[in-house]
Amino acid sequence: MSRKAKPNSARKRRIQQRVIERDRVCHWCSAPADPPTMDHIIPASQGGNFSVANLVLACWSCNQARADRPYHYYRRYACNSITG
Ligand SMILES: [Zn+2]
Repeated sequence: MSRKAKPNSARKRRIQQRVIERDRVCHWCSAPADPPTMDHIIPASQGGNFSVANLVLACWSCNQARADRPYHYYRRYACNSITG
């Protein structure tokens, strides 16, 4: 096999469903994640895989804002930005 296998989309959907059922709301800001997006704890660009253990549920804006920042860095940023 010279080509990289494409991610199995049915498997991806199942993983995504489990993360949604586990987290329910955005991991960062606790807002309803609508539309729900998957945020990698270890970014895919740094070798993180698409698995329930490496994913958290995030709202779209948190996912975009975090991009590839390290988990604990963005965690602090998100908490500081919530002023009530
Ligand atoms: Zn959020």
